[in-house]
Amino acid sequence: MSNPGSFADTVKQQADIVRIIGDYVRLKKTGAQNFGGLCPFHKEKTPSFSVHTTRQFYHCFGCGVSGDVFSFVQKIENITFPEAVRAVAQKLGIQAPKQNYSPEEAREAQLRTALVDMHERACAFFEEQLRRPEAAKAREYLAGRGLDQETIRAFRLGYAPDSGFLLRDLFRGADDQLLRDSGLFSWKETEHAPRPTGGGDAARVTAPAQSSAERRPAASLYSKFRDRIIFPICNESGKVIAFTGRRLSNDDKAGPKYLNSPETAIYSKSRVLFNLEKAREHIRALGYAILVEGQMDCIAVFTAGFKNVIASSGTAFTEPQVRLLSRHTHNVVVNFDPDTAGAAAAERSLGLLLEEDFQIKVLTLEQGLDPDLFIRGRGPAQYAAALGRAPSYFSYLLDRARALHPPQTAENKAKAVNYLLPHLNRVPNRIVRDELAADMAQKLGIDSAVLRQELRRAVAARSGAVKTPAEAAMTEAERILLRALHPTEATGFAVAQHLVEVLRTEHLHTGLATEALIENAISRCVGAASFSASASATEARADGPPRPLGDQQLLSAILMRDDEPLTAELVRGAVNALRRRRLERMQRDLRTRIVEAERRQDQGSLPALLQEKLRVDRELAASHEA
Ligand SMILES: [Zn+2]
Repeated sequence: MSNPGSFADTVKQQADIVRIIGDYVRLKKTGAQNFGGLCPFHKEKTPSFSVHTTRQFYHCFGCGVSGDVFSFVQKIENITFPEAVRAVAQKLGIQAPKQNYSPEEAREAQLRTALVDMHERACAFFEEQLRRPEAAKAREYLAGRGLDQETIRAFRLGYAPDSGFLLRDLFRGADDQLLRDSGLFSWKETEHAPRPTGGGDAARVTAPAQSSAERRPAASLYSKFRDRIIFPICNESGKVIAFTGRRLSNDDKAGPKYLNSPETAIYSKSRVLFNLEKAREHIRALGYAILVEGQMDCIAVFTAGFKNVIASSGTAFTEPQVRLLSRHTHNVVVNFDPDTAGAAAAERSLGLLLEEDFQIKVLTLEQGLDPDLFIRGRGPAQYAAALGRAPSYFSYLLDRARALHPPQTAENKAKAVNYLLPHLNRVPNRIVRDELAADMAQKLGIDSAVLRQELRRAVAARSGAVKTPAEAAMTEAERILLRALHPTEATGFAVAQHLVEVLRTEHLHTGLATEALIENAISRCVGAASFSASASATEARADGPPRPLGDQQLLSAILMRDDEPLTAELVRGAVNALRRRRLERMQRDLRTRIVEAERRQDQGSLPALLQEKLRVDRELAASHEA
């Protein structure tokens, strides 16, 4: 790995592996030379990850990963070896020599280095712009949200000026492709320069034609963020890797209210939690994290002294994000109302946290106030009191079930149970699940044996009862596939033929509600080489094998709705959704088997299961990025 005398070796000599890994994983002293913790590379409840102080080595007895400090940083940050060396050197305050890359590993690493550098410069630029006279409105807005100078500095808030050319001028002379890869710019693929005013991409205006003498490729680039408050997003090492821009004007033509950086070589939305770099040590010290929705809420809560707060930035959690958080704690207080606006996203987030064995409490503030408004109105002490009173997620759900369906009648009891089952269902540990069911039965006044039986049935039929994100999108995917499998002149027979091949090889439709319909459509496509371009639901009914009426109506409804063009991209997306769904099922199945194996202390089959789970996790993560 590191040759004696090399820069890497010098860094390694000085690095304390326990301290470096300790930044990412909660470690406890477990022996004279050893520290232990939960492995960040596979899911586990009892620590099997161990770090040896004198040998400067880590090893996981669960999944078998091991290596030195660089291999750890490389793996967990998903970077190359030279980058890991640099990262560790930086943590130690050692100056890295300029050239440290071999040509073959250089390109990606250099791109990332260049992008990090650009983001730092852009961030400083936005900060500086906020102090200018033109930014009066932005400063007013921030002051109105109760943010003082110190907070603005701490979070490095800034202002993106209305002119999109100022930021571009900052990078004058930089490689055009690099600018395009940075995610900081928009452009128009014409010879005319756009008029860079207004907020988002929606505000592209066709400019009057210009003479060809004025055409310059770089001139067509303009800042993606215009007339917006800028919130920098940092990675775990505190480096700025992306931005969120909040629109200042009320004009919807200026683009979305919140505009985020696109995915780049340094930024993957699903792998970053806002404010984690500031909050993580507090999360560990306090033993839990506060999870809020928006960046403004996060800043308000943090500034009020609750420093263990992070934001999901308004979208549903992803598994990598949950994994990221689980390196620091398994306890969260979620401070958003799971039943309002972002309900679907919130529910998915909570479901994912449940599946990863998090202990969840739900903090609902009076009158549906968001944390920012609540703290400004009532003060931090009241917020602390509310935090202390937050009920567990299941108490919260139970209260809701009882409010929605007062359990005085048998019918309402059944409704309350049906409301609760899908949530209960997601708890991976059977013992915990049974305990919750018993508690639920008692509070609803029903027989706990009956409820537990009901629960087991629901768990067995889990795929149908609980929708994962991919499955929630499934109806749409199935609809697209069925349309593509009943080709018209517009959708094309070639697409259908290709789809048949994919479905036949990968059996992606197995277990779908529409499995029979799809299978049928496939045999029709295969059987009818002369299959004309006029397939319709009516014809399908006439010459297809008999099917239940429900299916037939569904198919008709799907084929009737040709309101959107069926592009190759849509079909590809639908196929990918099916692939993800299958992986998610495998993941769930493996999770159950791992829990069972852990319970039985079955050391024989556990490593293979964990390996398999790791493979599926990776494949799934890759499919999300695709
Ligand atoms: Zn492991």
